Amino acid sequence: MLFFLVVTSSANAEWYSDTQAIMGTEVSLTFWHEDKNLAARALADTMAEMRRIDRQLSPYKEDSELSIVNRQAAKSPQRLSRELLYLVDKSLYFSGISEGAFDITFASLGWFYNYREKKQPSEGQRSSLLPAVNYQLLKLDKSDGSLFYQHENIRIDLGGIAKGYAVDRAVNLLSALGVTQATVSAGGDSRVLGDKFGKQWLIGIKNPRGSKGEAAIVLPLSNTAVSTSGDYERYFIDEASGERVHHILNPRTGKPTRSVASVTVLGPQGADTDPLSTSVFVLGVERGLALINKLDNFDCIIIDLAGKVHYSQGLMPPNS
Ligand code: ADP
Ligand code: MG
Repeated sequence: MLFFLVVTSSANAEWYSDTQAIMGTEVSLTFWHEDKNLAARALADTMAEMRRIDRQLSPYKEDSELSIVNRQAAKSPQRLSRELLYLVDKSLYFSGISEGAFDITFASLGWFYNYREKKQPSEGQRSSLLPAVNYQLLKLDKSDGSLFYQHENIRIDLGGIAKGYAVDRAVNLLSALGVTQATVSAGGDSRVLGDKFGKQWLIGIKNPRGSKGEAAIVLPLSNTAVSTSGDYERYFIDEASGERVHHILNPRTGKPTRSVASVTVLGPQGADTDPLSTSVFVLGVERGLALINKLDNFDCIIIDLAGKVHYSQGLMPPNS
């Protein structure tokens, strides 16, 4: 009987895959499983977890924890869930090491951009809201898990870290259900678990100015998180100036950064590679590479505005 079971279950083993629109982007997963029933559960649970994270952290849902905190935290310190505490704390860490390039209070001003409707804040709005873009005005009290905004116009947004984190959660969930080979992606944030029976997963980095789906570089990878930030994901061209108005803001100026076209960061976890890709995007080639080169376990590939590719030290051949 046992023999029979083993035979049927391995005859059932196959790749499973699903894609759904969640968190304002496309969430995809592919994994191998020996057991059909467990595989169905893994698919359902993982997508449900992505939706839960979206409900909790979306700035567009009025009853998300994030929206509630944004409405209350300038009035009194707000107790955060463990999850939000973890993400705000991590965000503040990346603000520190990126010298403020990564800053979740970008939203104090970023909230007034609407890429679909091609709208951006007026100069008056920009100068009056810019003082509220400053992570140092966030008082996170880790002893009681509360957050206080020391400026009435502050809003936070986790768009630069939440998808990487969600991908980590998905991989943890799949692993707990016995999966050892998988890829999970949420927009520009992916993680690969294991490999494909001895072959590495192939992850493409888009050509920032190419046609949809055209890869500039293909990376063979296993057991890695990969996050890409690009100026082509969410943007419009301002008719008056002809400028590309995209979704990564320089917290110093409150305007989209104009330093590079795309940044891909590789490392162990999405909750780190995601904010790092946004950070390097704002820092530009030189300061961005300097940041990645001084961290252990992270690498990056930058495509600049002229299309030139820059690699961190860990990706360069020896003697170069
Ligand atoms: P994507 O959302 O395309 O994966 P990123 O990971 O770079 O790209 O995240 C960009 C998002 O990060 C923006 O849509 C916005 O929500 C948020 N963001 C923009 N500028 C900053 C910044 N300077 N610091 C932190 N988060 C930012
Ligand atoms: Mg990012």
